[in-house]
Amino acid sequence: PQGDIHADIVVLGAGPGGYTAAFRAADLGKNVVLIERYSTLGGVCLNVGCIPSKALLHVAKVITDAEETAQQGIAFAKPGIEIDKLRGWKESIIGKLTKGLTGLAKQRKVKVVRGTGRFTSPNMIEVETSDGKKTVSFEHCIIAAGSAAARIPGFPYDDPRIIDSTGALKLESIPKRMLIIGGGIIGLEMATVYDALGSRISVVELMDQLIPGADADLIRPLHKRIQKRYEAIYLKTKVTRIEALQEGLRVTFEGSSEGGGPEGTGAPEPQVYDRILMAVGRRPNGREIGAEKAGIAVNERGFIPVDKQLRTNVSHIFAIGDIAGEPMLAHKASHEGKLAAEIIAGGEKMKSAAFDARAIPSVAYTDPEIAWMGLTETEAKKQGIEIEKAVFPWAVSGRALAMARDEGMTKLILDKKTRRILGAGIVGINAGELISETVLGLEMGADMEDIGLTIHPHPTLSETVFFAAEIAEGTITDLY
Ligand code: FAD
Repeated sequence: PQGDIHADIVVLGAGPGGYTAAFRAADLGKNVVLIERYSTLGGVCLNVGCIPSKALLHVAKVITDAEETAQQGIAFAKPGIEIDKLRGWKESIIGKLTKGLTGLAKQRKVKVVRGTGRFTSPNMIEVETSDGKKTVSFEHCIIAAGSAAARIPGFPYDDPRIIDSTGALKLESIPKRMLIIGGGIIGLEMATVYDALGSRISVVELMDQLIPGADADLIRPLHKRIQKRYEAIYLKTKVTRIEALQEGLRVTFEGSSEGGGPEGTGAPEPQVYDRILMAVGRRPNGREIGAEKAGIAVNERGFIPVDKQLRTNVSHIFAIGDIAGEPMLAHKASHEGKLAAEIIAGGEKMKSAAFDARAIPSVAYTDPEIAWMGLTETEAKKQGIEIEKAVFPWAVSGRALAMARDEGMTKLILDKKTRRILGAGIVGINAGELISETVLGLEMGADMEDIGLTIHPHPTLSETVFFAAEIAEGTITDLY
């Protein structure tokens, strides 16, 4: 049956996965409907994720850099923080980008339907719009409904002093004492922002290191730096209770005897905080879209399993981005979105196309930044893969020293036999920018000689990748 609107392709959710898929499909001549429940396009990433967090991190970096130049003989006064103006600036960036997306959708004649969509059958979605229900029938569908902040059950979430990343990015006020539950990327990025703005930060993490997915040597420089700046970092520690009191949120901890508390003393005593940021991961929205009505399988975590072509178990319905599995990153979502659109529009021609990324880089935009891609040392060990590693410490990089930030390091992980790059990890300022060269190297099958014979400009941080390759080859002749 035809719906109120009929589309060749309907895309459910307008985040980086969804809008990329919709635009690509329209460019390939398809009649596309994009369903989105938020008032603006761009999804989590543009509205309450990647972009606003990076805007605030930029300001945080300016503040801490200004504090630290005192060591080079240049002292600035304490910054005056106008929080309304800062919030306004951040909002203006989101505004520019989301307006841009609306324009791009219009140009391509992508029809945007505002409202919450749910499947009613394998070929129909019903959208709850501000003026009633609308049905959209389709030949193909791309589900790009993303994820939401996860919660540990049992805490008093109706208290506005407990926030998630969306609440933290609203920047309503600067709390005096703030606890971040979860020492992953999102928690630590928000910690970086609020620390620079003047909050006293504590971080509590269940595992034995911050950012548990990354190699321990990459985390060390970050840990060392924030340990000096923050009030406390509790590892191997769990929050068991939060009581909403008038004077603040009273938190009870439970920690392992080796290394939970401040000095490895077990769990700390209960503490009272002004604000708590819950940053314990993201939950895919697989259970919120009526998937069962279309016969789409959803796994126990709420992800929608897909094959190499990004097809769900229902062959004309695809899923991409956060809802389709880890890593939950914007650049993975957009690459998948583009491919799904091309596979649908390409028909026979794209029969053997597949999502086949050799590596998807991860970046924590903390200070220092941490970036990694491909195989990690931990994974190599676990999988019994014979690797060699080459580490270039930034303490001998002229550029890092000239920037007064020599705590970083660049590590290449290579195949012992072929000498090809298998993975890389970088910690230091701008690590997120520097990692791309190693991803290209991996995608192109570069070996250490390829990288070591490529002339890099001097003096740059990008040279550290080349120096690491020279270390691997035993051909290094000059440092600094
Ligand atoms: P989303 O961006 O989640 O978009 C899904 C869209 O679908 C949403 O707009 C939602 O409203 C809509 N939707 C859902 N259900 C329905 C429905 N039933 N009907 C209609 N619409 C619906 N990633 C990075 O790569 N780099 C970063 O620096 C980074 N920083 C981040 C910082 C924070 C604080 C957070 C929370 C995330 C960050 N991420 C980052 C992750 C990134 O935001 C996600 O990986 C990315 O947004 C996923 O894109 P997506 O298209 O899959 O889904």
